[in-house]
Amino acid sequence: MNFDFSDLTIASAQAAMERGDYTSEALVSALIARIAEKDAEIGAYLTVDEGYALDQARAADAARAEGRQGPLLGIPIGIKDLLNVEGQPCTCASRILEGYASPYDATAVARLRDAGVVFLGRTNMDEFAMGSSTENSAFRVTRNPADTERVPGGSSGGSAAAVAAGEAMATLGTDTGGSIRQPAAFCGCVGLKPTYGRVSRYGLTAFASSLDQIGPMTRTVRDSAILLGAMAGQDPMDSTSLDVPVPDYCAALTTDLTGVRLGLPREYFVDGMDAGVLARINEAVEICRKLGATIVDVSLPHTEYAIAVYYVVATAEASANLARFDGVRYGLRAEGATDPIDMYGKTRAQGFGPEVKRRVILGTYVLSGGYYDAYYLKAQKVRTLIRGDFEKAFEQCDAILTPTTPTPAFKVGENINDPLKMYLNDVFTATANLAGIPALSVPCPVAGSELPVGLQILGPAFGEELVLRVGHAYQSKVEEGN
Ligand code: GLN
Repeated sequence: MNFDFSDLTIASAQAAMERGDYTSEALVSALIARIAEKDAEIGAYLTVDEGYALDQARAADAARAEGRQGPLLGIPIGIKDLLNVEGQPCTCASRILEGYASPYDATAVARLRDAGVVFLGRTNMDEFAMGSSTENSAFRVTRNPADTERVPGGSSGGSAAAVAAGEAMATLGTDTGGSIRQPAAFCGCVGLKPTYGRVSRYGLTAFASSLDQIGPMTRTVRDSAILLGAMAGQDPMDSTSLDVPVPDYCAALTTDLTGVRLGLPREYFVDGMDAGVLARINEAVEICRKLGATIVDVSLPHTEYAIAVYYVVATAEASANLARFDGVRYGLRAEGATDPIDMYGKTRAQGFGPEVKRRVILGTYVLSGGYYDAYYLKAQKVRTLIRGDFEKAFEQCDAILTPTTPTPAFKVGENINDPLKMYLNDVFTATANLAGIPALSVPCPVAGSELPVGLQILGPAFGEELVLRVGHAYQSKVEEGN
């Protein structure tokens, strides 16, 4: 059986399996062979459990033989290594969780399992999802399949690289400040961060609980719609998941944007942006105009504070969430400690990498007596202003278009010793997390050796249908060659 890994999608593989062209077992075997061939160079996966994946594939094939159908039946997917999959490792790319196996499925994972998904393996990431390049993984560096001298982005860099290298047709990532969209943009795939509360966070190892969301990383917008539909919806195990009906996201996908008002926020088109990124986004805006959309100027005046606010709120929450990794219950316990306090300190000193330590220290500082009001409380107030900016903008437009990142993928090693420069990567993505709104990154067409560029589409809370519709219309037009 020959597989064309460059354009295999969930939808096309499902159609092929329904026709009987191949089985899930054959598809999974082919992907495992592809991973064996490519992953020494790319480094997208931390673990691939071949036997586990093939057992699930055979079960899906047996269910199909008995008449079961469904868009995800027998579809293999890679899972970021901070989402719990029962019985599988869940290291969060950290030494502190080396050897840990999950006792349960995350709700998003359980819902995909019920839909017939095959779990292929665990994708690499920045340790505890802190980073923009996947260089903060304690285990391996992931390389960008478009140019292996460059980073895949982060923190879901393994998930993006797996899709881009044909080592998966879809993966799950998580996004706290851009970790789905930025790597999707850098690697040339689609990435969706849903509305806060759309997908349950139960079983997602928390980084910043008020910002984290799970989302799909795929080749097409349609595949993201399929995965979101299967994962979304209220969950009694996550009190922040909301009781909002889950629409048929695929039914919302049209190829026409007549009557849709798309806003261009002037604060996202600033000096210092890469010229190639700007050119690709301007072309994308023109394509949307040709599809019938009306383009309007909007303003998001508090954008300039987003990075500062994000790095106060995210680190504050991280310092609390990561307190649970102390050598008592999970993973690593340092040897030779003289008492419990000594054991906590030694375990955390040995188990956490430098970026995680930096964040815990920063987060503890902004929450400490005397600084809480000046930093944390102030940041929460500015967060409200950022959310208000979007509410006002969405009175004038239905969705907003921006670049996903100010530059294309940078070189491995280029920013790793300059945390501030690394943090500036999140300038266009962290706002959606602070506001809790959905945001999609769709690849722009690039010529020859040009690096991938992502178009970001932002919508109002629970506006995933429209965001996906705009992304699908754009991607369809691009694929038919304008
Ligand atoms: N790059 C951002 C950070 O380092 C975002 C990470 C994320 O979304 N998980 O915090």
